[in-house]
Amino acid sequence: MRSTLTAVGIALAASALGSALFTVALDDTVGSGLVTFAIFGGLAALSAGVLAWELASLRVCPRCGFENSAMAACAGCGYDVRDRPRFACSEGHRVAFEPGMCDCGRRLLALRPVPVARHAMRAAWLALGFFLLVLVVALLASGLAS
Ligand SMILES: [Zn+2]
Ligand SMILES: [Zn+2]
Repeated sequence: MRSTLTAVGIALAASALGSALFTVALDDTVGSGLVTFAIFGGLAALSAGVLAWELASLRVCPRCGFENSAMAACAGCGYDVRDRPRFACSEGHRVAFEPGMCDCGRRLLALRPVPVARHAMRAAWLALGFFLLVLVVALLASGLAS
């Protein structure tokens, strides 16, 4: 998952820049600047990592495991990565990625599609909410300390 590592790296670089600016602007010591960086860099990297992982997994073909560059037809096997059609027989013996016959002889029926976009949005809101929560806690902690 190279895209996940890239996103984490960018988040780390951005928060390093941010905490360096913060340290200079507040005329802070390098030590407390490093603490700021450790907190916010870690948080930003975590959120970016979760998000990028989520987005990358949306582009992975469930049929052949190929990580596509876009949510379209899979470059490896032609499977529709965006709609992700799935099929199963009425007895639910196995889930297939193409229509056909089940091993038990019943015809495979189309399953309801997985709400992929909603899942990604929920992950994004979760990451944002977590980030804000820790931000508030950090602000409260520094307010109590001073
Ligand atoms: Zn594929
Ligand atoms: Zn069956």
